[in-house]
Amino acid sequence: MSTAHLIDGKAVAARIREELKERVVSSKAIGIEPGLAVVIVGDDPASRVYVNMKKKACHELDIYSEEHALPAETSELELLNLVEKLNADTKISGILVQLPLPTHLNEDRIIEAIDPNKDVDGFHPENVGRLALGIPGFVACTPAGVMELIRESGVEIAGKECVVVGRSNIVGKPQALLLLREHGTVTVCHSRTKDLASVTRRADILVVAVGRAEMITGDMIKPGAVVIDVGTNRMPDGRLVGDVEFSSAVRVAGAITPVPGGVGPMTITMLMHNTIEAARNLVG
Ligand code: NDP
Repeated sequence: MSTAHLIDGKAVAARIREELKERVVSSKAIGIEPGLAVVIVGDDPASRVYVNMKKKACHELDIYSEEHALPAETSELELLNLVEKLNADTKISGILVQLPLPTHLNEDRIIEAIDPNKDVDGFHPENVGRLALGIPGFVACTPAGVMELIRESGVEIAGKECVVVGRSNIVGKPQALLLLREHGTVTVCHSRTKDLASVTRRADILVVAVGRAEMITGDMIKPGAVVIDVGTNRMPDGRLVGDVEFSSAVRVAGAITPVPGGVGPMTITMLMHNTIEAARNLVG
């Protein structure tokens, strides 16, 4: 029995990071210094891991980075003041506020305070609006990384049936807009979708971002489809699994991303890409 081609996110990410490294060198040669400010509030362990990974990626690419670690009880005004300071700081081309924030802080207000030209996460309403309108702007890192992986699979998006499961602001919605921009015929599914399997089975390209371990099984996949699994779910035994049941899906799909080693490595790579772009844009 044939099995799907494995889309190796680690390898794609490593290749793009090599290209980015060269871009940093050529930027610095003309006086453009990318710099990323990472803001973390509180001591959520998962957020700490992500922040460390982002700082490490900057270090590897020789991108200046600084961390602002604030206590959990930081007030909204204090955080807004820091964002304002970073907006004005010429060393900083990209600002990232690690989410989720403690519940007393309004995430929307904080994101809206970030200068859209430094919004390397692509979460600011101006950048989301730009994506919806099809004009240049920062694109959220995870869906941008997914597009690279689809490109890697070699499949043409134009005219294909694309199904996105999940409609969050950080993955599902921008993913749908990106696929639409590439002329896919896009359907977005969510928790109210009736008969999910009948929709996913139509997909030539299926992107799943739900956060429910192994919910998409092989019988819900069209033979030969490209399957991109964004989900990361920690099982009680410590294993990390996706939203797609890999063992059954790999026998049906034409190409599939593993978890871990699929979408994950791409997200931070696209953040580095956006930070370098931001620095170049800021000098005009
Ligand atoms: P959210 O919880 O914000 O959104 C989940 C979406 O799934 C919602 O739109 C929800 O629908 C939908 N959903 C829930 N249950 C069902 C169901 N039974 N059938 C169909 N749709 C359903 O999650 P995120 O988008 O932030 O993240 C999704 C997953 O991706 C998580 O596992 C997360 O850890 C992972 N992730 C991975 C990243 C990476 O770098 N690898 C980065 C970001 C996320 P509704 O809107 O109706 O509630």
